[in-house]
Amino acid sequence: MKVALITGVTGQDGAYLAEFLLKKGYLVHGIKRRSSLFNTDRIDHLYQDQHENDVHFKLHYGDLTDSTNLIRIIQETQPDEIYNLGAMSHVMVSFDSPEYVANVDGIGTLRILEAVRILGLEKKTRIYQASTSELYGGMPENKNEKGFYDENSPFYPRSPYGVAKIYGFWITKNYREAYNMFACNGILFNHESPLRGETFVTRKITRATAKIALGLQGCLYLGNLSAQRDWGHAKDYIEAMWLILQQEKPEDFVIATGITTTVRDFVRMSFAELGIEVEFSGKDENEKGVIIDIDEEKVRALGLNTENLKFGQTVVKVDPKYFRPTEVDLLLGDPTKSKTQLGWEPKYDLPALVKDMVISDLHLMKKDEYLKQGGFRTLNYFE
Ligand code: NDP
Ligand code: GDP
Repeated sequence: MKVALITGVTGQDGAYLAEFLLKKGYLVHGIKRRSSLFNTDRIDHLYQDQHENDVHFKLHYGDLTDSTNLIRIIQETQPDEIYNLGAMSHVMVSFDSPEYVANVDGIGTLRILEAVRILGLEKKTRIYQASTSELYGGMPENKNEKGFYDENSPFYPRSPYGVAKIYGFWITKNYREAYNMFACNGILFNHESPLRGETFVTRKITRATAKIALGLQGCLYLGNLSAQRDWGHAKDYIEAMWLILQQEKPEDFVIATGITTTVRDFVRMSFAELGIEVEFSGKDENEKGVIIDIDEEKVRALGLNTENLKFGQTVVKVDPKYFRPTEVDLLLGDPTKSKTQLGWEPKYDLPALVKDMVISDLHLMKKDEYLKQGGFRTLNYFE
């Protein structure tokens, strides 16, 4: 039985990857952080009673800032594959905690590589490093001749997160070359899902769309509506991570859809999923999104009350506090190498992703509605 160790197992990708590897028959170990509240929501459905004999999913307390803990866990678990997904992964928050991000996202990667080397597991253990399209920084002059970012495009990170991740990228490559380790970078473009963190723009939008449709929220406040991202589905992207570690030679791969979309269009698509047409007017800080049409049949079919929605209602406004000190305006990845060499083929396109997220959030928010009606408190804080 193959053994995998996942850092960041409680995150979006960690949860999907753990499920995927368990289905493939792996023994899966995950590292989770101690927190004052349970933080295993995304993996609760995978939990197995640890008192049984045949347990395939095991969690270990740990942290990427703690070398001795990482060495001990890797020694105990003797993994064939390590997926280093743990990170402070939010670009905007990285401007608030740059030193912490450098420690976790940058040096944390080194700690994993060194632990494998200290334990003499260089020949046995393959390592996947969660690199990111943020490395490119969206610099227009660095695109390839087709207008995409690929494995050979130069990097120019634009946030403490991107700068920390560039260290992770290069130290992974360096250990591969210096010590012959099977260590690879997946340069993944943005990938989303119903499990995406609530403060990333897609999830913030799909949650708010559902809440507005249910009459639980008036307006959604966003930052740069013109930013463009190459958005894929996390379920497709975790499969690519696994494929990268199954190759004969260790190499780095871009994982992307090859299509880019504005935040504004993601908002339009999300509302349209619930039968609500939103149009934008105004510029920059004064731009707003207003309801211009309601497909009453569709709204009712989804179990929603049309009285919650009004023509001319402003449902999106810009709040400059969400503008970033340095922004990545456009990301667009070239998946040619991963499609030809890995045989990777995503199953979800953007409309399917939006639908998956909006419908899932509608179910979640209906639960919130019931709780509110019953006099219970619901979670309102998400920025
Ligand atoms: P999430 O933010 O959903 O998950 C991050 C995980 O890392 C969580 O399990 C979190 O634990 C854990 N973590 C945070 N800090 C530490 C620490 N100090 N020690 C150990 N674990 C820690 O991210 P995603 O699942 O979306 O992304 C997975 C990886 O891929 C990340 O490295 C991210 O930077 C990278 N990436 C993501 C992209 C995307 O679009 N999703 C694009 C490209 C790269 P907890 O649950 O306790 O907070
Ligand atoms: P990122 O690409 O890793 O930074 O992923 P995010 O989902 O956090 O942001 C994607 C883009 O959406 C960035 O260009 C943001 O500036 C833009 N954006 C616009 N409004 C918001 C907002 O309210 N929250 C977030 N997180 N991003 C926003």
